[in-house]
Amino acid sequence: MAEVEGARSRAPRFSGPSDLHLHSARSDGTEPPAEVIASAHRHGLRTVALTDHDTTAGWAEAAEAAGSLGMTLLPGMEFSAKHEWRSVHLLSYLFDPDDTALRAETDRIRGDRVGRAERIVSNISRDYDLTWEDVLAQTTRDATVGRPHIADALVARGLARDRGEAFDGILHPREGYYEPHYAPDPFRVVELVTSAGGVVVVAHPTPSGRSRMMPEPVLHALIDAGLAGFEIDHRENTEAGKRVLRRIAADRDLIVTGSSDYHGRGKPNIPGENTTSDAMVERIIERATGTSPVYPA
Ligand code: AMP
Ligand code: FE
Ligand code: FE
Ligand code: ZN
Repeated sequence: MAEVEGARSRAPRFSGPSDLHLHSARSDGTEPPAEVIASAHRHGLRTVALTDHDTTAGWAEAAEAAGSLGMTLLPGMEFSAKHEWRSVHLLSYLFDPDDTALRAETDRIRGDRVGRAERIVSNISRDYDLTWEDVLAQTTRDATVGRPHIADALVARGLARDRGEAFDGILHPREGYYEPHYAPDPFRVVELVTSAGGVVVVAHPTPSGRSRMMPEPVLHALIDAGLAGFEIDHRENTEAGKRVLRRIAADRDLIVTGSSDYHGRGKPNIPGENTTSDAMVERIIERATGTSPVYPA
């Protein structure tokens, strides 16, 4: 690990407030990484993590932007996983981005997401005027492709007012156009990320609706396998679920975070709408061995 100068060098040189879950146009956010960091700075944040879905492609640009604004950056990623039928998102921080096994897995997910998005578009095109070119026009080159890009194409075609309406309408599984994409199970992700020196926190672990929370015994098994914590303060978590997770976190001495899940204009979420305490940021930094945070000069 680079940048370790002395015994106390990993002590906090960062300052809050901290928001550890932000997306750029390298996945399904609408702003380039540098703009995401600038937006976070404008909202008063001083420590941030860029956590694009299944890619580290935005790290370099985000690091440069954070440096020039005097902010601390924790390079991160939101790793797509699947437990039974549930889509599970695992926030992964400060891992080695060149780890061969981890890269192979994220390459596989991103590759499969392309074919899957093409299948969804082909399904939709049976009933609506939508082409794959429409989706490509809404996607930054080499970005992790997802349903949000199809939503943007539907908006451009006048078939939805915004992403939210597209997700509640044509993109909703009940409409019959949905297709799944490949994702590893969460135990595999915890193994890959911790082996690469990173720290794993379950993103929005207790949403309402179909995905719901993973069963408690599964959460405990994931903690035994190296899971570090839960993102508890997130607008999609239910109050009842948060109470359960706070109890587990206290019992198992876990890291708990709060964050915005900012997607630029793609979602109403605002940088800093939830934040993570300095003590918890410090625990993430102390636990990681894969990559150093990018500190202000
Ligand atoms: P995918 O991973 O391709 O299945 O798409 C899931 C992504 O869509 C998530 O990362 C969310 O950020 C985004 N998403 C889900 N529901 C909505 C919504 N109602 N409005 C905007 N974005 C959404
Ligand atoms: Fe997203
Ligand atoms: Fe997510
Ligand atoms: Zn997210």
